[in-house]
Amino acid sequence: MREMDFSLTMYAEICKALQLHKVVTVQRYLSNVLESPCLVLRHDVDRDSKNALAMAKLEYEYGIQSTYYFRYPNTFNREIMEQIANLGHEIGYHYEVLDKAGGDCHKAIALFQKELEIFRASFPVKTVCMHGNPLTKWDGRDIWSLFDFHDFGILGEAFLSCSDIPIYLTDTGRNWNGNNNFKDKLPAENRNKNFRNTVDVIRFLNSNKDNIIYLNCHPERWGPGPWGWTKAFMRDHLFNFCKKALKLFRSGSMERF
Ligand SMILES: [Zn+2]
Repeated sequence: MREMDFSLTMYAEICKALQLHKVVTVQRYLSNVLESPCLVLRHDVDRDSKNALAMAKLEYEYGIQSTYYFRYPNTFNREIMEQIANLGHEIGYHYEVLDKAGGDCHKAIALFQKELEIFRASFPVKTVCMHGNPLTKWDGRDIWSLFDFHDFGILGEAFLSCSDIPIYLTDTGRNWNGNNNFKDKLPAENRNKNFRNTVDVIRFLNSNKDNIIYLNCHPERWGPGPWGWTKAFMRDHLFNFCKKALKLFRSGSMERF
């Protein structure tokens, strides 16, 4: 395998490894009609909806259905989302309303309802997923300590409702071990598997076909072609630098930076 890591061709290698697994959407996992084991495949579309479409088409070629969570308005692109839905994937809402409301849960829930209705004008959204912005101090999931997403016809929240899955793998921060990762966490992630790269993750997938696994890949990180790869590489390193600075700043140790 000689593909560049975090490229769409490397993602095709992941898709090959996924052929050993029963891959399901978040909605299907939460529908309680499944026989385990299965692998839940989720994509947080944080920045690039075109990359999401390229990834969705690739998965379709491998017979894979997954869940794509879109932000509003950042990555909300009805035309692209319709194409992804037509490939058999689930469309979900990647909410960040507590950040937008400055930490006010009541303002946030009103905004949640409004944005959800915009999604539902075109897509039957049944699951939602918190977007974790490392620059803000709020955790979007906190609104559910005051409110119940079931009241909005939502079957589940991609973090809260899937916390029973024992293995959580995410590419957040261009690192599979949870480094450079502020909020995209589940208790399962505490296991340190010492993945050096995606090839190690593929080896893990190949040798763990009988485990229940939760896999999250951000489409903007798996750009098609050399320019797509370069853009993602530069963006990830810039973001990781900023996150490191923020972490040091918050811990009051800027002098070490
Ligand atoms: Zn996100």
